[in-house]
Amino acid sequence: MRIDSMVGPKKQVGKVIKKLELAEKVFEMVVSLPETLLFKPGQYVSLRVSESGIRRSYSVVEYASGNIKLLVDVGPAGLGSVFLENIKVGEALEVMGFFGNFVVDRNELEDKKTVYFVATGTGIAPFLPMIHKLKSFYTGKVILWWGVRYERRLYWQQELKDMETSWSNFSYEIYMSRPEEGWKGKMGRVGDDLDGVNAENTSWYLCGATEMIEQMKERLLLKGVSETDINYEKFF
Ligand SMILES: Cc1cc2nc3c(=O)[nH]c(=O)nc-3n(C[C@H](O)[C@H](O)[C@H](O)COP(=O)(O)OP(=O)(O)OC[C@H]3O[C@@H](n4cnc5c(N)ncnc54)[C@H](O)[C@@H]3O)c2cc1C
Repeated sequence: MRIDSMVGPKKQVGKVIKKLELAEKVFEMVVSLPETLLFKPGQYVSLRVSESGIRRSYSVVEYASGNIKLLVDVGPAGLGSVFLENIKVGEALEVMGFFGNFVVDRNELEDKKTVYFVATGTGIAPFLPMIHKLKSFYTGKVILWWGVRYERRLYWQQELKDMETSWSNFSYEIYMSRPEEGWKGKMGRVGDDLDGVNAENTSWYLCGATEMIEQMKERLLLKGVSETDINYEKFF
């Protein structure tokens, strides 16, 4: 493997080495890449999903030993979803990356007492490596709010519990918008607890549906959070 960490995004032909259906229509995929590049937690890759060269973006959940882990919602059923639902372990995949400025910045967070991560669906993907990165330098509180529609589309329950147990600064809450009988967690939308938050000295990372991001942004600005403390990545 060649270490080429000084160059920017590159096009590489990777190979799918693992594919797992985590929940209904949600896959975790691991793709091995021939070259190692510089990665900042929160960044994404662009995958070629058609013969004609059409591409779709996917956030990187983990980058280790030359392998990227991706979290793929095939629910939208468009070109990208169908391609990735059908791709098999052992097959080639053209990957371009890494891209994006949706990352955690040590200097920006220095004086913040709490960092909030707010996701809908697979919008949680970039947050895992970002939170992992924060663990190495950040001393304030880190709170994750995750909005999921159905219990059958829920995953990473043990991973989140382990993160909470291993780092006392971190806590999370799941908001189920269409819960079934027996759901014991919170019901409703991901921003439901925002009114009760003291937003002074907080920083916000929003990821997933544009509708959620726009609503959260508007409410955060009204609460006095400055625009520079609201970071977001719109998936669709
Ligand atoms: C920077 C970036 C990072 C991304 N990271 C991820 C990721 O980590 N995991 C992931 O699953 N997706 C991610 N996405 C979204 C992904 O790139 C695709 O847009 C999505 O998977 C749909 O692609 P498609 O070709 O199947 O559907 P398209 O043909 O692009 O869209 C079909 C229809 O579905 C709608 N739609 C698209 N996505 C969703 C959705 N999630 N829920 C409901 N409706 C939707 C579209 O608005 C459209 O109407 C990311 C997008 C961006 C811009």
